[in-house]
Amino acid sequence: MLGSSRFFLLALALVCGGAMAQDYPSRPITLLVPFAAGGPTDTVARALAVSMGKSLNQTIVVENAVGAGGTIAPAKLKNAQPDGYTLMLAHIGMATAPALYHSLPFKPVEDFEHIGQVVDVPMTLLGKKDLPPNNLQELLAYIKANKDQMAFANAGVGAASHLCGLLFMAAIQAEITTVPYKGTAPALNDLLGGQVDLLCDQTTQTTPYITANRVKVYGTTSRTRLDTLKDVPTLAEAGLPNFEVVVWHGVYAPKGIPKPVLDKLVAALQAGIKDPPFAQRMRDLGAQVVSADKATPAGLRDHLRAEIDKWTPIIRKAGVYAE
Ligand code: ASP
Repeated sequence: MLGSSRFFLLALALVCGGAMAQDYPSRPITLLVPFAAGGPTDTVARALAVSMGKSLNQTIVVENAVGAGGTIAPAKLKNAQPDGYTLMLAHIGMATAPALYHSLPFKPVEDFEHIGQVVDVPMTLLGKKDLPPNNLQELLAYIKANKDQMAFANAGVGAASHLCGLLFMAAIQAEITTVPYKGTAPALNDLLGGQVDLLCDQTTQTTPYITANRVKVYGTTSRTRLDTLKDVPTLAEAGLPNFEVVVWHGVYAPKGIPKPVLDKLVAALQAGIKDPPFAQRMRDLGAQVVSADKATPAGLRDHLRAEIDKWTPIIRKAGVYAE
């Protein structure tokens, strides 16, 4: 008797689960973003929310779950219902955080469903407008003489801006005091206000400020010059050989979402990255939308694993830890 009622409940759950997956999405979806509103990750997320929402015929609401260098949002996602109504857009920080934090409340590969990669974004090394040096070589000399009075902003340990600053300071063998923010939107505000001297940040936020001449720019972290910033040299060509950081982005869901929901999300991501307004906006901001094979669960998972393997020894060698 007990056996048959258990069987009935299981069958009911499967039928209901299947029906719910059929209806998905029947209400708005939340897309968590680990950094502050108005910043570069937020910019990608809001554009993607519109394009994926179009394809899903549902609203996607961006929620900025900020703090701890971008590790609050993934911890929150891990504990969310695995029903497809809570997702996260996160960047390269998912691959660098494991080496930077002694104890992290999530495992990037094991604890999530990976929906797919989205876009690759280069970074730019910026100075406040009235910082005297006008190019990288002048900046290096200026840092040598003034590093004790300088402040290098970032979005906390684990953020792309932190990684870029770490690599920069290792490359020039100088320590500059870092100032953490909850995202590079507030960090850029302070750079514009002259409260901090340096910031390395994605072109998805910095492009309009560079073209409007509101900051000094010392180079891009791309392998070649960007079409959108043709006059700006790469950091490698300006004198830091092999200095390359690509800030890749991925969409994640809690572990265990139903397969039909996962399939719908992958299809929406595929459609979303090809949506002309999204693709155009990313191009205008110097970013490169990924190819369709990368916007898949395996495309994100494999890249995440490879990036953890790439950055862990580099970060360990630099000897930096959050806590
Ligand atoms: N650009 C930031 C970073 O350093 C994150 C952000 O504010 O979007 O990772």
